[in-house]
Amino acid sequence: MSDQFKRLALIGIGLIGSSIARGAREFGLVEEIAVQSRRAETVKTAERLKLGDSYTTSAADAVVDADLVIVAVPVGASGDIAEEIGPALKPGAIVSDVGSVKESVIRQMQPHLPKNVHFVPAHPVAGTEYSGPEAGFAELFRGRWTILTPPEGTDPKAVERVRAFWTGLGARVDTMAADHHDMVLAITSHVPHLIAYNIVSTAAHLEEVTESEVMKFAAGGFRDFTRIAASDPTMWRDVFLNNKQAVLEMLGRFTEDLTALQRAIRFGDGDALFELFTRTRAIRRGIIDAGQETAAPDFGRQHESGKE
Ligand code: NAP
Repeated sequence: MSDQFKRLALIGIGLIGSSIARGAREFGLVEEIAVQSRRAETVKTAERLKLGDSYTTSAADAVVDADLVIVAVPVGASGDIAEEIGPALKPGAIVSDVGSVKESVIRQMQPHLPKNVHFVPAHPVAGTEYSGPEAGFAELFRGRWTILTPPEGTDPKAVERVRAFWTGLGARVDTMAADHHDMVLAITSHVPHLIAYNIVSTAAHLEEVTESEVMKFAAGGFRDFTRIAASDPTMWRDVFLNNKQAVLEMLGRFTEDLTALQRAIRFGDGDALFELFTRTRAIRRGIIDAGQETAAPDFGRQHESGKE
């Protein structure tokens, strides 16, 4: 690739950071990778896995001379990281992130970034319920969307280079305003996760459903909720605290629709139920047709996580 980045600094080397490291190396997108993680233990694991060329617990040290810096930590920690790396960034460097929420990350990071660097926030809409450097794999982003939310006035050349980087990782890339991203993701990802956390918690609280019965009959629709509800607690706590407005708006609509369903059941309105279930089935088919899911019984994730 002609416009290759020389030195990539990864701040945070969990599921997403380590998948980027593996992909960037495997697909020849960068010459050198500097790996940072907060805890020495995680840095040691990354080193054992040979994810980079240099390793440190200091974010400021990692970004020295980097042309591309990708912050891959829980969104609530973005501001502190930006404050730490700001003074150490090379003029002309591109700073990006992978946070699942965009307005809050921009609000937290932008004030700490010097004027002579380019800020191109990004969100790869891909993941698994596993975390840490061992959970990553180079193919994670293949065929998945990455959404870029460059603030107004961002140099289009910098946006283009970030787009090329994600395309190199196999992703499809779209660009949108940060507030729009947060609204779309609230309904497609954040609220579904909240529902999964809630239903698993409700089932666990039911006195008449013993834990063993929950396990035994898990295939009855519950199993996929338990997989989603196993997602990283820190990451998801930060998502909800940082996308409050959009999540509350979508939850309001969800609750109204749920109440309508409740009414249909109470009054035996089978037509309303049948009509809705038919519409939702068509949506599922549309997602499979769009290549964002497979029809395989385990949702095709066997290969991705390698752990199921
Ligand atoms: P992860 O596997 O849990 O890794 C988190 C990384 O961030 C680790 O290197 C961890 O360091 C570091 N970290 C944690 N708390 C920190 C703090 N307070 N200050 C500084 N560093 C901290 O997480 P992940 O799944 O890769 O998620 C990273 C980001 O990607 C999040 O913003 C998330 O919203 C976004 N994202 C996740 C997914 C997904 O499905 N998982 C998908 C798309 C986007 P130590 O291990 O050294 O403590």
